[in-house]
Amino acid sequence: MAELLPDAAAQLAVQLADLGEEFRRSVPGRMRDVEDAFAALGGRRDAAALLQLSGAAHRLAGAAGTFGHAALGDAAHRLEERVRHLDTNPAGCGGQDRAALQGLLADLQAAAAVVTAAAAVTGTAATTVDTAPGLPAAALPRPVFLVDEDSRLGAEIAEKLGHYGYQARFFPTPRAAIEAMREAPPEALVFDLGSPGGMLDKVLLAEARAIAPAPVLIVSARGDLAARLHALRAGGDAYLTKPLDIGALVDRLDDLLDKSDLRPARVLVVEDDPITGQALLAVLASAGILAELVGDPGQVLERLRETLPDLIVMDISLPGCRGDELVGVIRQVDVWQGVPIVYLSVEVDRDRQLLALEQGGDDFLQKPIAPGHLLRVVSARIERARRLRALMTRDSLTGLLNHARFMEQLDIEALRARRAGKPLSAAMIDIDHFKSVNDSYGHAAGDIVIKGLARLLQQRLRQVDVIGRYGGEEFAVLFPETSSDAARAVIEEIGRVFVSLRFRRPDGDFAVSFSAGIASVDQACQPRQLIEAADRALYDAKRRGRNRVEVATPCAGPAT
Ligand code: GH3
Ligand code: MG
Ligand code: MG
Ligand code: MG
Repeated sequence: MAELLPDAAAQLAVQLADLGEEFRRSVPGRMRDVEDAFAALGGRRDAAALLQLSGAAHRLAGAAGTFGHAALGDAAHRLEERVRHLDTNPAGCGGQDRAALQGLLADLQAAAAVVTAAAAVTGTAATTVDTAPGLPAAALPRPVFLVDEDSRLGAEIAEKLGHYGYQARFFPTPRAAIEAMREAPPEALVFDLGSPGGMLDKVLLAEARAIAPAPVLIVSARGDLAARLHALRAGGDAYLTKPLDIGALVDRLDDLLDKSDLRPARVLVVEDDPITGQALLAVLASAGILAELVGDPGQVLERLRETLPDLIVMDISLPGCRGDELVGVIRQVDVWQGVPIVYLSVEVDRDRQLLALEQGGDDFLQKPIAPGHLLRVVSARIERARRLRALMTRDSLTGLLNHARFMEQLDIEALRARRAGKPLSAAMIDIDHFKSVNDSYGHAAGDIVIKGLARLLQQRLRQVDVIGRYGGEEFAVLFPETSSDAARAVIEEIGRVFVSLRFRRPDGDFAVSFSAGIASVDQACQPRQLIEAADRALYDAKRRGRNRVEVATPCAGPAT
C-alpha cells in the first residue's frame, strides 16, 4: 500500500500545528459559551439551558481532544456527561447538583487556563503524524517474481503470466529472489509456502519487503487453516491454493497492482466545529483524499449528490439534528445504501454508540483520533467498498463491465455524444468457433481465451473507451468521439494481435480469432439501435468468413 509521503507528513504536521494554535486562541471564546450557558441555568432545571450547556461542553471536548489537550478534553467531557445526566433525570437541578456542576466547571476553567497560557505547541500527542496508507497511486503492470520449489511448475506459471501482460521471473529459492530484488525490484512477489519443514517465514518476507514494498501472494498445495494462518502471519497479502488457477492468480495480481479504480477517494466530513473540521480535512488531504467539510446538516443531502463521496465521516452532535439521525435519513435514499459511514465523536457510552450504529453507521471512532488511525480506517473502508461495488458492476471472469452496467454506460455516452455533437462508435466482438475451443480443450481453456481477449482490449483501448462483456464470448466496446473508420482500424489491429496469441496446451498450441461489427451514431439513432447495427455488421463479418471486421451502414433510426 502507498504510504504517506514524507513531504505530506511534514506538511500535515505544520497544518495541524497551525490549526492547533487557532484552537488555542479559540479556547477563551469557547469557555465563554460554557460559562454563559452555566449562568443562564441559574437554579432551575431548564431543558433548553441544559442543552446549551452540554452542547458547549461537547464542542469543547471534541476539539480539545483533536488537538492533543487531553486534560481539557476530559474536563469538558465530564461536565457534559454530568449535564446530560441531569437532563434525563427529572429530579432536576437542585442545590447539590449545582454544586457538583460548579466543581466541574472550576476543573474545566483550570484546564482551559493551562491551555491558553501555554505557548504554541507543535507535535503534541494528537498531532504526531505516523505514516499511514493512502489510496494507491496509478500503477502499471510491472515485473513479478515467482518462487517455487518445483522449477518446472514455476517456469510454466511464469510463462503463462506472460500472456496476461505480467513479466514474470522464476527463482528456485526465496534467497535467489531476494538477491535479484536488489538489482531490479519487482512489483509483486509470488511465493510458494513451502513444505512444513521449511515454510516461508516472517523474517524472510520482512527482508524482501525491506528491499521493495511489493505485495506478496502465497501459493500452496495446502488449504487448511494452519497453512493459511502461517501465510497470514508471515505477512502474505493473498493466498491461493494449488493446482494454481492462472486466472485466479491474474485476478489477485490485478487486484493488488493494477487497481481498476484509481480515482482519488472522496470523503464528505460532517462536522460543525470548523477548526476540528479543518484538521480532519488536512489529515485526509495528506493521504491524497479529496475531502469536503459540511457543518450544516441541512446541506448534507445536497453535498452528497454533488460530491458522490466514497465515504462519510459523521460527527454525532450537530446543530438541528443528531449525526445518527442524519445517517438514518441518508440511508432512506437507495443510492446511499452502500456508502460507508464512520462516526467520529467524543461519545463514550457504548449503548449510545450502538444506537448510532443501528441507524446505519459502519464504525464508531472515538475523538481524539491519531491521524494515522483515521487514515487507516478510512482507506480500508473505501477500498473494501470499492471492491464490493466492482463485484456488483463487473463481470467476475474478465473484470469488464457486466451487461447491465455496459447498457447504462451506453445511454450515458449516447447522451453525451448528442449534447456535444460528437460521433460515438460501437463495436460488437464475438470469438470465432468458440464452441470448438471448449469442446477440444475444455471449458477452463475457453475461460483463459475469454480472459486473454478481455485483457488485450483493456491494454489496447483508451481510458475513455467503455468495454463490456456483453455475453458469453461476446464483447462490446464504445468509442467516444471516434468515427466508425477509426474504430474499425483499432479493432482490426487488436484482431491481428489476438489471432497471433498462442494458447499453450500440453497437447499442442492453439490460436483463436474473432469477428467484429462496427457502427456509429451521428445524433440520429437510439442507443439500442447503435448496438443492433453493430450486431448486424458482426453477423456480416461471420457470414463473410470470420476473423474480420465489418462496418454497418449508418443507422436509419428516427432522431429523438
Ligand atoms: P461463431 O464463430 O459463429 O461465433 O461460433 P461459436 O462456436 O463461437 O458460437 P456459439 O455462440 O455457438 O458458441 C459460443 C459458445 O461459448 C457456447 C458456450 O458454451 C460458450 N461459452 C459462453 N460463455 C462461456 C464462458 O464463460 N466460458 C466458456 N469456456 N465458454 C463459454
Ligand atoms: Mg459537533
Ligand atoms: Mg456468440
Ligand atoms: Mg462465437
